[in-house]
Amino acid sequence: MATTAVQRLMETRSGHLFLGGEYVASAGALHDVIDPATEQRSGRYADATPDEVDGAVAAAAVAQREWWAMSALDRAAALHVVADRMLAATATVGECLTREMGKPFRESNWEGGASAGAFRYYAELARHDQGRIAGPAIAGQVHMTMKEPLGTVVSIVPFNFPVLLFGWQAAGALAAGNAIIVKPSDLTPLTLLLLMESFRDLPPGLVQVVTGGAEVGQALVAHRDTHGVAFTGSVGAARAVARAAADRFKPALIEASGNDAFIVMPSADVATAARGAAFAAFLNCGQVCTSAERFFVHRDVHDEFLGALAREASALRVGGGLEASVDIGPMAAARERDRVERIVGEAVAAGARVVCGGRRPPGRTTGWFYEPTVLSVHPDNPVMHGECFGPLAPVAAVGSLDEAIARANGSELGLGANIYTTDLSEAFRAVREIETGIVWVNTPLNDNDAVPFGGRKFTGSGRELGAEGLEQFRRSKMVMIAPDAAPDPEWFPYPDGDDYPSVSGGGAS
Ligand code: NAD
Repeated sequence: MATTAVQRLMETRSGHLFLGGEYVASAGALHDVIDPATEQRSGRYADATPDEVDGAVAAAAVAQREWWAMSALDRAAALHVVADRMLAATATVGECLTREMGKPFRESNWEGGASAGAFRYYAELARHDQGRIAGPAIAGQVHMTMKEPLGTVVSIVPFNFPVLLFGWQAAGALAAGNAIIVKPSDLTPLTLLLLMESFRDLPPGLVQVVTGGAEVGQALVAHRDTHGVAFTGSVGAARAVARAAADRFKPALIEASGNDAFIVMPSADVATAARGAAFAAFLNCGQVCTSAERFFVHRDVHDEFLGALAREASALRVGGGLEASVDIGPMAAARERDRVERIVGEAVAAGARVVCGGRRPPGRTTGWFYEPTVLSVHPDNPVMHGECFGPLAPVAAVGSLDEAIARANGSELGLGANIYTTDLSEAFRAVREIETGIVWVNTPLNDNDAVPFGGRKFTGSGRELGAEGLEQFRRSKMVMIAPDAAPDPEWFPYPDGDDYPSVSGGGAS
């Protein structure tokens, strides 16, 4: 089959880094990137060498000084240009993303646009204020906190939404005045390399891509001359990153795993809840941090919901992300499908019943496909405790909202939670009582650039998006100004009358 322009571009960028505003061939070892739908090589990436990491950090420092010296208005204008370019490049970057990790083209094409929205939002938000003036503690003075950038931010992103998640971090970090160096996942390195065309008008070195594995990420986080970290990925990697950042007291935004609950109450329209559930469980082949992973359905509607969800799941069209009429692509890697198969096997061994799916699609012998799977489980089944991160919806019956909320909270992770209900008091109880960073009532998995995104517990700390997502990349400087430079009555010499009473003859009684 003829190669496309994007495939040729992927070949051209293979083995490169984006350093100092240019694509540079790396001297590091090369690894294949495999297309999950065809199992063919779609490109290669390099393990950046220590010298290349040092070079990136040095270039970032120069670029960041230039960037912060610009006016806030000029920085905002430059970020709008980035957004324009990202919008123009969504199809190119999207095709590359699908060839790297498999998601349907509609979804990969969407990512660039969604990411561009964050650049527009932060372009304006960051120039709105740059600190605060407090009521002075000394008459006539100006006391304020000025917001400054951290310096160089290290971004480490996973494979599942590389354009969107890098965009959330980069938009906040750049708008706050920082440089950023991103270390992509080993599954999606070329997507972020191709995305760099959108940043070409910024000072060279302000945005850079350094590819490689965990060691490259660690080298960036531990580097003396990087100043903040934004990590998105699994809990294990998050801990390693948070520890390395803590060693140098660097602020670290940690966005790690989730195993979101999805509660359905009898007042909900079950057909709509089942459609929402299918989207929440199977979007991106279940490889979403906020995928619904644990379904707690009130017993009065459990059987109806289980049947409806199984019908929705069975109707989903599984195929290559660049094929026509596809809802669900392959999993991103053989290791990911192996993991899901193991989790389903363990759930079944613990008593789960496969309602639909639970296998590789018959007839598809190439590609890492797995059928959208619905399990009927007891709420204590081990599958209800971990993160599957695959196309799996385990459904358990519960007797009440109290039980649903208690089970939703019985997790070490705390990213998001969904509830379907039309009972206002149930909705507000869920909002108040579920221990997660996000609660969706009848509207699964939606985002808003203006509202902070993030989790609790082992899901992490810090927030992306919203005003909080900007503050994450700023630090405060306390500034006090005495315009008339008058002497301060608190200075030396101290008045004699303030001595300890015993010195002046009295003594404390
Ligand atoms: P992963 O943890 O394997 O990798 C994420 C990134 O961290 C990659 O770039 C990887 O190379 C790097 N990395 C791994 N170990 C490292 C180390 N010791 N030091 C420095 N960098 C290291 O995650 P993944 O498999 O790519 O992504 C899936 C996970 O990401 C899931 O757990 C999912 O829930 C989570 N995720 C969370 C969010 C969120 O916002 N909370 C969003 C998307 C994905």
